[in-house]
Amino acid sequence: MPNLFNQALTQLKKAASLGVVDPKALEALEFPDRTLNFTIPVRMDDGATRFFEGYRVQHSSLRGPYKGGIRYAPVVSESEMKALAFWMTVKCAIADIPYGGAKGGVKVDPKKLSEGELERLTRGFTRALCRFIGPWQDVPAPDVNTNAKIMAWLLDEYEILTGEHAPAVVTGKPIPLGGSQGREAATGEGGAIVLDQYVKDHGMDPKKMTVAVQGFGNVGYAMAKALHARGYKIVGLADSRNGVRDDNGRGKEPGMDPFHILQEKQEKGMISGCYCKGSVCDCEHYKKISPEQLLVMDVDIIVPAAVENVITEKNAKKIKAKIVCEMANGPTTPEADTILERRGITVLPDVLANMGGVTVSYFEWAQNIQGVSWSAAEVETRLKEKMLASYRVVRDIARERKVSFRTAAYLLALARLEAAMRAKGVIK
Ligand code: NAD
Repeated sequence: MPNLFNQALTQLKKAASLGVVDPKALEALEFPDRTLNFTIPVRMDDGATRFFEGYRVQHSSLRGPYKGGIRYAPVVSESEMKALAFWMTVKCAIADIPYGGAKGGVKVDPKKLSEGELERLTRGFTRALCRFIGPWQDVPAPDVNTNAKIMAWLLDEYEILTGEHAPAVVTGKPIPLGGSQGREAATGEGGAIVLDQYVKDHGMDPKKMTVAVQGFGNVGYAMAKALHARGYKIVGLADSRNGVRDDNGRGKEPGMDPFHILQEKQEKGMISGCYCKGSVCDCEHYKKISPEQLLVMDVDIIVPAAVENVITEKNAKKIKAKIVCEMANGPTTPEADTILERRGITVLPDVLANMGGVTVSYFEWAQNIQGVSWSAAEVETRLKEKMLASYRVVRDIARERKVSFRTAAYLLALARLEAAMRAKGVIK
């Protein structure tokens, strides 16, 4: 497993090598403020106790409380958490929201736990985290394999432990507990806003653009749905186990409706090559495809929306798409990034494309603190404003300095973080 934190720092150093950043500011970002390791004992349904490894990395609180998701996955590691926390610091600076960066996780395959075990694990993790999180300290949110229900358990346990009503301690919670309208779809919706603006800036017609999306969870589904609604043709979709491609969508037909695929997935438990409505099976339109094949499909746009390091030296040369819109965090290795850049493929980087999630998390936190709630339309308008504002600044830096969107995004983040360091006297 490559050291993901070193990979993340490579991206930062590439931007810093342009010579516009104070080396001391760069050095400050190379070290997370705090790395927490926990052991979480959980009483399993059979009465036995199992121990799980938990992490929280608080990378930087320069611009505000630590902010970042919690993931449950079998491969969670300290280096991965550090990288993801660092990306949150960068992303919140690009989004220009008053947060620092953090990330947490538990090494567990949640699919192997019962709902009761998952709840006890979450409450145990919250007990371990309790002293280190809070509305003005560190604000968790959902990430891979965690959702609103898990955030509700976290909130409940935190409130029991502190004796305070504290909805702003966590975002991505259910709406009856103070969650925000639009949070669930925010990451995908935000990605669609950025991608769509890029497509329009380059005079391309969305209705003629074909898209393949890898990952069909919160982000992948919402992104596919948002692009489908804007007229893009979704011709490939995959989750961790399976995928489908729609060859007819590349012709005159409109491509797949992600909602339809979701319904079928919910029925069958997986994305499959055949979709049966009543007795009629549609095996003609949809062919089976693996998540790996999906990335090298002959399409205009690929959207990695699952996990890190899926675009590597090995497959970067084979990518046929003209645009890669990174919705997962860290889906492209630095080596692959260089290959894509050399081949003239545009990468809309994770720290810009997927910032819609943390942006609406910030809206949720702001509503909780003020004791107000905004309508879905208000959230939508504000999200669009924020996404477009960040996209335009990054685009203009990229044009001016003749650098990639990723390097431009890092330059923007570095400038904002350096200004905060200077204002606090961290650097002179
Ligand atoms: P999720 O758990 O809801 O969904 C993950 C999806 O990826 C699932 O469909 C899973 O089957 C699939 N998957 C896992 N491994 C895969 C593989 N090797 N190939 C293909 N598919 C695979 O998680 P999510 O919240 O949608 O997060 C996805 C990515 O987006 C992560 O990198 C996460 O850090 C990032 N992200 C999430 C948010 C958010 O708001 N949830 C915000 C910003 C970034």
